[in-house]
Amino acid sequence: MNQLILLKNRPSGKPQLSDFQFSQEEKPKISEGEVLLKTRFVSVDPYLRGRMREDKSYIPPFELNQPLSSGIVAEVVESNHTSYNKGDFVMGLLQWKEFQTSNGEGLMKVDGSKAPLSAYLGILGMTGLTAYFGLTEIGKPRGGETLVVSGAAGAVGSVAGQIGKLKGCRVVGIAGTDEKVEMLTSEFGFDAAINYRTTENMGKAIAKACPDGVDVYFDNVGGEISDAVHNHINHFARIVVCGSIAVYNEESIPTGPRVQPFLIKNSALMQGFIVSNYSEKFPGAMEELSKWLAQGRLSYTETVMEGFKSIPQAFIDLFDGKNRGKMVVKVS
Ligand code: NAP
Repeated sequence: MNQLILLKNRPSGKPQLSDFQFSQEEKPKISEGEVLLKTRFVSVDPYLRGRMREDKSYIPPFELNQPLSSGIVAEVVESNHTSYNKGDFVMGLLQWKEFQTSNGEGLMKVDGSKAPLSAYLGILGMTGLTAYFGLTEIGKPRGGETLVVSGAAGAVGSVAGQIGKLKGCRVVGIAGTDEKVEMLTSEFGFDAAINYRTTENMGKAIAKACPDGVDVYFDNVGGEISDAVHNHINHFARIVVCGSIAVYNEESIPTGPRVQPFLIKNSALMQGFIVSNYSEKFPGAMEELSKWLAQGRLSYTETVMEGFKSIPQAFIDLFDGKNRGKMVVKVS
């Protein structure tokens, strides 16, 4: 039998294990022009929380009692498709199933000899590309400027900060544990890092870590952390609104200080984006990220949970900050 995971309830507040349903179906069979895929690595991502709501967004909501889906690296275990052979590895937006068929649409071949397979879900996949495009297309950092990154020890943040260093910035990270703060400065080359959970006055801490103010803010979290950063932006600052995990579990979006006065008096830019806006430029970006990795100028870390049954818990753990770098599930 084939294992799959369905959305049982639309979560209220933080997702719970009871919002997910494990189920079984007959193992699928392939037709002409199809491949049978075996799931190897599953990406869990904060944005999936938005798809669990009924609301209209840039991507359709998950349906109740239907399989969830996310970025998955899978192995081709049977093929009736001219472009794929048994033993190939592919990446795509696939369902949370141990086995599934595909006609090849939306799949990309990945090469496990060039990089570990899980890297195609992180540094060489959606989160690496998000860091790359958010920073280079909107943040546009220049040498000598100060870049602040929130959610800095996560998949997107740890890469955004390192790219900021490659561009010659002073980089300050904000993260939720002392261990993460230490990792940012000792392993990823950040100039300073702040633990937002133990810092009483974030405004003071940001002022201390950014004596010349903030030129670029790469925002992964929103909420009160961002309120504190907005207070320290410089003239012509760029605020890259990548994510807002601090409010993803809220039933209605809380209001904080209004941001418009900060933007006006500093002639600052604040822009949201979705990584797929830049899909035509993905190949060039992947090449550059791969080159930096090979040169040792970029590094990454992952938190790997084991087993198909761990997927819902791995997703929930994102909201408790249990991951360092990219959270993935290895399905053996
Ligand atoms: P991630 O940072 O690897 O994991 C989530 C992290 O968020 C956790 O480790 C936790 O770290 C932090 N966090 C959780 N709850 C928080 C809260 N209430 N306040 C502050 N921090 C909190 O996830 P990711 O995949 O790299 O995504 C980072 C952000 O980018 C997310 O908001 C995501 O939605 C967004 N994103 C946007 C795009 C796009 O196209 N715009 C694409 C990918 C991701 P701490 O221990 O530091 O709290």
